[in-house]
Amino acid sequence: MTNIVLFGKPGAGKGTQAEFLKEKYNLVHLSTGDIFRYNMKNDTELGKLAKSYISAGNLVPDEVTTKMVIDSVNANPEANGFLFDGYPRNLSQAEALDAFLESKNMNVAATVALEADDEVLVNRILERGKISQRPDDLDEATIRNRYVVYNNETAPLVAFYKQQGKFHAVDGIGEISEITGRLSAVIDNL
Ligand code: ADP
Repeated sequence: MTNIVLFGKPGAGKGTQAEFLKEKYNLVHLSTGDIFRYNMKNDTELGKLAKSYISAGNLVPDEVTTKMVIDSVNANPEANGFLFDGYPRNLSQAEALDAFLESKNMNVAATVALEADDEVLVNRILERGKISQRPDDLDEATIRNRYVVYNNETAPLVAFYKQQGKFHAVDGIGEISEITGRLSAVIDNL
């Protein structure tokens, strides 16, 4: 089983690339952002809880997010592997993921990061917001807060995975297919 963490700042293209990688490597795509949005759309208890955090560009509390991820992994016992997208987003989530996977005799095989400049990404998200109408993509202050959260909470994971010898970065700027190629080259070499 190969479990991969797809890593990168908001707007780096994780969701877009995940669509290709999940097919190519037969992985279950587990996007915390997608699960939250599904729950908000259907107005579930989880959706109601997550909404205020997400619309402010803040992280949903760890215990809620981690439980959701554990439930999603457990719901897919036949999976060949998971592609984690948007999780972990801070150290406590990364440690929780390692502990949970270890309890199931699984692990994170690699973390693959899509790299791009903040200014390029903020503009990408503003463009995406016009189509997606995601409330957290419409307001520039909210978008900028997501980068502050990334820098404070998520960026330390680079060192966490480097220390484990699991961190791989690719250039996230270019044609979509080109970037899929870069990611595949990393995964094929694991
Ligand atoms: P993006 O990568 O564009 O910021 P996501 O769809 O991954 O978008 O996430 C949208 C929002 O969902 C985040 O800004 C955050 O509020 C919430 N969220 C997603 N994943 C997590 C997580 N692992 N922990 C806490 N909150 C999360």
